[in-house]
Amino acid sequence: MKDRFNRNITYLRISVTDRCNLRCTYCMPENGVECLTHSDLLTFEEIADFTKCAVSLGINKVRLTGGEPLVRKGITDLVRMIWNIEGVKDLSMTTNAVLLKQFAAQLKEAGLKRLNISLDTVDRDKFIQISRRDLLPDVLEGIDEAINCGFDKIKLNCVVEKNRNEPNALAVAEYAGSKELDVRFIRTMNLDTGEFWVVDGGIGGDCSICNRIRLSAKGDVLPCLFSDIGFSVREFGACEAIKMAVESKPQKGTLSRSHEFYNVGG
Ligand code: SAM
Ligand code: SF4
Repeated sequence: MKDRFNRNITYLRISVTDRCNLRCTYCMPENGVECLTHSDLLTFEEIADFTKCAVSLGINKVRLTGGEPLVRKGITDLVRMIWNIEGVKDLSMTTNAVLLKQFAAQLKEAGLKRLNISLDTVDRDKFIQISRRDLLPDVLEGIDEAINCGFDKIKLNCVVEKNRNEPNALAVAEYAGSKELDVRFIRTMNLDTGEFWVVDGGIGGDCSICNRIRLSAKGDVLPCLFSDIGFSVREFGACEAIKMAVESKPQKGTLSRSHEFYNVGG
């Protein structure tokens, strides 16, 4: 699927929930948000049907995200349903790892290949400041369990204010080295004002080579994180919504007043 700027769209990111068990200051307000009702949320069948359509149009790489994907009930079943779709060559998840100790083995068995784990600090007090929850021990146990399960690749995502030389980031880099994990540093972005940067250690944020579309938790196909354009799967049908999104994918992101990281997944 080529867009108007000759970018080949092969990568789908699916936000499976807008709920989360953390409250990261850069992502969610302290008191949480008004969550989608059960009927607003796409069902697993709708997500799987959507993915089949997406694959028939050229998508071959899928990432599950959120909110926190592991708080969606039955998430392992969804992983299995997506991995069983012929044409899905890569299946990964972005998670905060709070529940990973419990889920890692099941996810691996269901077909998940790779994990991106968010870790901004390895200091317990700083973790509480950033995420407003005292759950760093669970996260670190989750990471160890994931390593034991033998995923193809585990990467750490570390959100930084400006760059990798900040104390939290340096400590995360050292921790990553000790576990032989890759780490990417993501400078804090602002959807409202359109401030975004290329990810240090990754390719996210470089519009000229962006190959992504997103499916939001309530079923809008979004061609760009930094744009308000979206097409409802329930209104237009999956294939039509995907085609409309790809045709209207902007050359460059600007800003978005209607998206939040917790409902489109970053
Ligand atoms: N809850 C999961 C997690 O945190 O990994 C998945 C969803 S989260 C929205 C996906 C990614 O977006 C995380 O790596 C998170 O750090 C990043 N993120 C959230 N808000 C951000 C912001 N304002 N700027 C940059 N990255 C952000
Ligand atoms: Fe939750 Fe992830 Fe947002 Fe943190 S970044 S509040 S873990 S969705």
